[in-house]
Amino acid sequence: MVRAAVLPAVGSPLEITEIDLPEPGPGRVRVRLAAAGVCHSDLSLTNGTMRLPVPAVLGHEGAGTVVSVGEGVTHVAPGDEVVLNWAPSCGDCHPCSLGEVWLCVNALAGAADVYAHRASDGADLHPGLNVAAFAEETVVAGNCVLPAPAGIPLTDAALLGCAVLTGYGAVHHSAQVREGETVAVFGVGGVGLATLQAARIAGASQIIAVDVSPEKEELARSAGATEYVVASEKTPKDIRKLTGGHGVDAAVECVGRAVTIRAAWESTRRGGRTTVVGIGGKDQQVSFHALEIFHWGRTLSGCVYGNSDPAVDLPVLAEHIRAGRFDLSGLVTDQIALEGIPAAFENMIAGKGGRALVVF
Ligand SMILES: [Zn+2]
Ligand SMILES: [Zn+2]
Repeated sequence: MVRAAVLPAVGSPLEITEIDLPEPGPGRVRVRLAAAGVCHSDLSLTNGTMRLPVPAVLGHEGAGTVVSVGEGVTHVAPGDEVVLNWAPSCGDCHPCSLGEVWLCVNALAGAADVYAHRASDGADLHPGLNVAAFAEETVVAGNCVLPAPAGIPLTDAALLGCAVLTGYGAVHHSAQVREGETVAVFGVGGVGLATLQAARIAGASQIIAVDVSPEKEELARSAGATEYVVASEKTPKDIRKLTGGHGVDAAVECVGRAVTIRAAWESTRRGGRTTVVGIGGKDQQVSFHALEIFHWGRTLSGCVYGNSDPAVDLPVLAEHIRAGRFDLSGLVTDQIALEGIPAAFENMIAGKGGRALVVF
């Protein structure tokens, strides 16, 4: 038996309870978690913005040590340190055949599996976004574990699987920020902080962080922001003023709200690029009139999991981390236990802090 954070039903509070985990079957791997980050997508699953089968153990950004492996698993062995990958690609579907593995249509197929049972009543449990990282131990498909990069503590490496890949990929793959360009980042949470750091690595000349909270300025500046704007109705004007009247070359929206998507788009120069990383609901309608789309010549792109291939991007990120260019611990503002997750959700709703990290 291990302790886990279970979402009993959409809209219900999380339950910290014991679960029974089976031994890993063929192709599966049992992992003892070292740490797991609390991501906005976990909140989106609890409030129904995103829907997956429940009851489920949440948590999809984590790292740990392999305890045991099932038949046929050869890429990792007991004792190996691994990073969890919540969006494994199948290699066979249409997006995978195009090399766009982040759009794999089978990435979340495992979410429907029953992977464990609640100890108190034997209820079937689903593995949230595949990996059920809000638990002392988990059992996942073999393609959900990647070797952890050497020389990086597991408590730091935990963030690689979602926030860091997403923020890094948004800048490098989606927005394709080039040296000397100007960048605005909307939303200074875990992904926003990773995005700021990625913009710094890309050599952006000006990095403008935008958030509703004035309290995040120091956090944003330590992640690479050169300017800080407290979000208001005139944010696009503020950003134009900071960039010689032009607007930024690239804006990255890490909030998922219509008003911020629109503000990000309006903050870019003519021909500028906006990347939407935030995940919003169907009620968030963004509108544009035809003439402005023509006049501004701008681009608006969605971005899934940083448009990243974790197997390719993790080693690159590891180099940046080891060289001191990317500071993983700088993303974490709270270290908590499993019981602290509901309070971390409250902070997220209130717009407080960066990443909360469950440390086991
Ligand atoms: Zn996430
Ligand atoms: Zn696929």
